[in-house]
Amino acid sequence: MTDINKLYDSIAYCNKCILSKTRNTIVFGKGSQNPDIVFIGEAPGSDEDKLGLPFVGRSGKLLDKWINKYNLSLDNIYIMNAIKCRPPKNRDPLPEEKNACREYFEKQLEILKPKIICALGKHALSNLIDFSVSSKYSDMRGALHTYKNIPVVATYHPAFILRSPQSAEKVYDDFELLLKTMNN
Ligand code: SF4
Repeated sequence: MTDINKLYDSIAYCNKCILSKTRNTIVFGKGSQNPDIVFIGEAPGSDEDKLGLPFVGRSGKLLDKWINKYNLSLDNIYIMNAIKCRPPKNRDPLPEEKNACREYFEKQLEILKPKIICALGKHALSNLIDFSVSSKYSDMRGALHTYKNIPVVATYHPAFILRSPQSAEKVYDDFELLLKTMNN
């Protein structure tokens, strides 16, 4: 069994925080176990909670479109959330829930060792670097950040682009930066 599968097995029935009471299932991650890029969102939504996979609803379809546009696939990327259980009614995770779950995504990234990380939205970024979600997220895009010596590029969450399709071009700018940095 691989280290990533062992990690999944060790948290599959986690009840460290209150989200364990309302979730249907843990949403761990999907993709290559030796990825070039890890895409990380904040927390599962309703579709993910039902299926146990990240980014499978409308947001997931849009993320797939971005990924396919740049000839990426689950053979060379990995997709996950920082928080492994769905917050009720998709509310923001509470600080104590983030703290409880933090060791899992940190361990997951330690095992996956990506060349680069793409944060999908400000909540995801706030788990990786010193960034307050009350700060202006647009200022964080277009720059390189670092999580434990791994470069991090920030882009918008697909759910935001579904609500604000006029910003879609900015995501493509972020993907260009992501790929350019990865290939340098
Ligand atoms: S959110 Fe994380 S810490 Fe909380 S129950 Fe789920 S796996 Fe455990």
